Amino acid sequence: MPTMSIQQDAKSFTEESLGEWLGQHGIPNYRVGQILRWIYHQGAYSFSEMTDLSKDLRKFLSERLFISRLETEQVQTSRDGSRKYLFRLKDGQYIQSVLIPERGRWTLCVSSQVGCGMGCKFCLTGRDGLVRNLEPSEIVNQVCAVRDALGEPDSVTNIVFMGMGEPLANYNSVVQAIQTITGNNGLQFSGRRVSLSTAGLVPRMDDLGRDVRVGLAVSLNAADNDTRNRLMPINRTYPIEMLLSACRRFSLPPRWMIMFEYVLIAGVNDAPTDAERLAKLLRPLRAKINLIPFNPYEGTEFRRPEEGAILAFQKVLLDRHYTAVIRRSKGGDIGAACGQLCPEICNNGQAREG
Ligand code: SAH
Ligand code: SF4
Repeated sequence: MPTMSIQQDAKSFTEESLGEWLGQHGIPNYRVGQILRWIYHQGAYSFSEMTDLSKDLRKFLSERLFISRLETEQVQTSRDGSRKYLFRLKDGQYIQSVLIPERGRWTLCVSSQVGCGMGCKFCLTGRDGLVRNLEPSEIVNQVCAVRDALGEPDSVTNIVFMGMGEPLANYNSVVQAIQTITGNNGLQFSGRRVSLSTAGLVPRMDDLGRDVRVGLAVSLNAADNDTRNRLMPINRTYPIEMLLSACRRFSLPPRWMIMFEYVLIAGVNDAPTDAERLAKLLRPLRAKINLIPFNPYEGTEFRRPEEGAILAFQKVLLDRHYTAVIRRSKGGDIGAACGQLCPEICNNGQAREG
């Protein structure tokens, strides 16, 4: 009986593993770069386009490999110019990526998981837990799809792992995706233009600093352990002192800073005394601070602070010479703001008011 060969996704390989695979079929290693550059530089989706490969090799590859892409289900544009892309995965799950225009830059916020298992109390993405991890190709393909849609290879200038999911809880896939995104034969982003945000998975933060060179953002969200324990269950495993020690250990190239994100929630963590404590905590670090006024969603008990409280909190930090920016979240009107991405919204394709 003839065996049907199952085709593999060319985008699931690393440079190394593609070399090994080709080697097993007697194909020389210099083909790796050629093939990957067709895929990631030229945006090829078929081997027949790869005109500098022999006809026989093209045929051989087409029979055994395919080049995956995400299915774009919906694109919504916000009043502020940000765009939310809804992608359908091969198993019918949905993920979102958000493209944010800002001072000549286009930052793409990518997802690393469907849902999230960290259970932060203020976050809609995590409300229903983790559905599944994304594969490396599903992460990279968010960038490819947006680039394809915009029609220019340089259209996306920065990438942040701040979409759905906790990237360090899907460590191997995220690192492989980062290698493809920053690789010379990959999407060629400088590591300076890629950053990853974590709720504070301390052991993986150490690994990350060793394995790749990208920017680090930490969702701190509270300046004392009691408050952080209540908001972010992961703090019970890795409390603030451990988290900040990991930040101090993180190998940061000269002049790079760690970005600390702080979601401001009325009556929970927004008092001037919280700001003072935060300033003290971050003193030993090369830190800048993003203040994100809480984005409300249906069914949440939390509220966004009044404008006066937000500005007063920021002033405490500015007075202590921190760079502290208030993130007026983009895309609130299309449910694309921080913490508003969620599988459930994806599944009915609807955005809620932010
Ligand atoms: N899991 C990672 C990456 C997701 S980033 C992390 O938590 O860092 C998502 C960011 O949005 C985090 O900084 C989180 O603190 C913030 N966030 C979550 N829910 C929010 C909400 N409702 N309003 C404002 N910011 C929120
Ligand atoms: Fe997960 Fe981050 Fe949301 Fe926490 S804030 S539930 S870690 S996505």
